[in-house]
Amino acid sequence: MNPSPASEATPTSAAGVWQIALPTGMRAGPVNSYLIEDETLTLVDAGLNTPESLSALTAGIRSTGRRLEDIELLLLTHGHPDHIGAAARISMISGARVAAHALLAPVLENLGESARAENAYRVRLMEIHGVEADAIEAFLRHRRRLHDREAPVHVDQRLVDGDRVSLGTRSLRVMFRPGHSWVDTVFVDEIQQAMWVGDHVLPGITTTAVAARPLDGNHDVRTRPSALRAYVESLKATAAQPLDWVFPGHGDPFQGHRDVIERRLEALEPRTQSVLGHLRKGGPLTARQIAKAIWPRRDDAVYLTLSVVLGHLDLLKDRGLATEVGRRDLIRFATVDLAGAARRS
Ligand SMILES: [Zn+2]
Repeated sequence: MNPSPASEATPTSAAGVWQIALPTGMRAGPVNSYLIEDETLTLVDAGLNTPESLSALTAGIRSTGRRLEDIELLLLTHGHPDHIGAAARISMISGARVAAHALLAPVLENLGESARAENAYRVRLMEIHGVEADAIEAFLRHRRRLHDREAPVHVDQRLVDGDRVSLGTRSLRVMFRPGHSWVDTVFVDEIQQAMWVGDHVLPGITTTAVAARPLDGNHDVRTRPSALRAYVESLKATAAQPLDWVFPGHGDPFQGHRDVIERRLEALEPRTQSVLGHLRKGGPLTARQIAKAIWPRRDDAVYLTLSVVLGHLDLLKDRGLATEVGRRDLIRFATVDLAGAARRS
């Protein structure tokens, strides 16, 4: 499913575009960086800031006859460590300009502070949804390891939806596709009908709509915006676009994006029904209780499984099928018909 990291770049179907698979040591497998040869030598996404990833990137670029030092522009799709980790190093080594979404720029420029704020938000969200203290501790240990190596990077070009980035002979249209993260940015070559998507839509891997800290200043976990709702809207927007090739952050470039997206959207309903089934059978329940019932052995992914369940609860609330009950410091969910009874008890 995923290419294993190699020391050579792989040519893609688009002229002058190379895929370089970089090691992550993560469950999702290698992460892709893409080299675009044009008047401005451009790299899309940076990989982790590890010696292994940097040497794979260096070797991959060299296999195309170019050098890491020659990179002039670094485009970033979103702020996850496997995509932005080495951005500061690459920019320092090559002098490349860095372009990222305007919402992502302040995060990248203050990475330590942003990671602390993100962790604090996630801890509050986990607490209010019933995650156990030891699971929260384990989550924080994992996050610290992940963010350990990150270095802040200055963003030279702050992008917004609709912008164009000129690489010389081609220009890339910037589109905002929040959902997997709040800053997901895709880049479209409208002539070649190719889209660099980061983790927005992946072949053979289901993208998680992560319940991350919103970047609009609302940090009250009780009024969390729905990442899954945003993600569904973003997928529909991408499906409406004519595309020949998609260049994903993980896995190989693929065609037929409408089928892939249709399958993703269809796969949501059974999960929504499963969450509803748990509520009908055993509600009121916390989101954590539902996540543990669905994934009893995924304590390595406490936050992701919680995010998935919260997303489906959002969809159920939208349909008037589920509601929140319980105390201010511990949210439980019930089906709407049970909610009245729970409030009275
Ligand atoms: Zn990601």
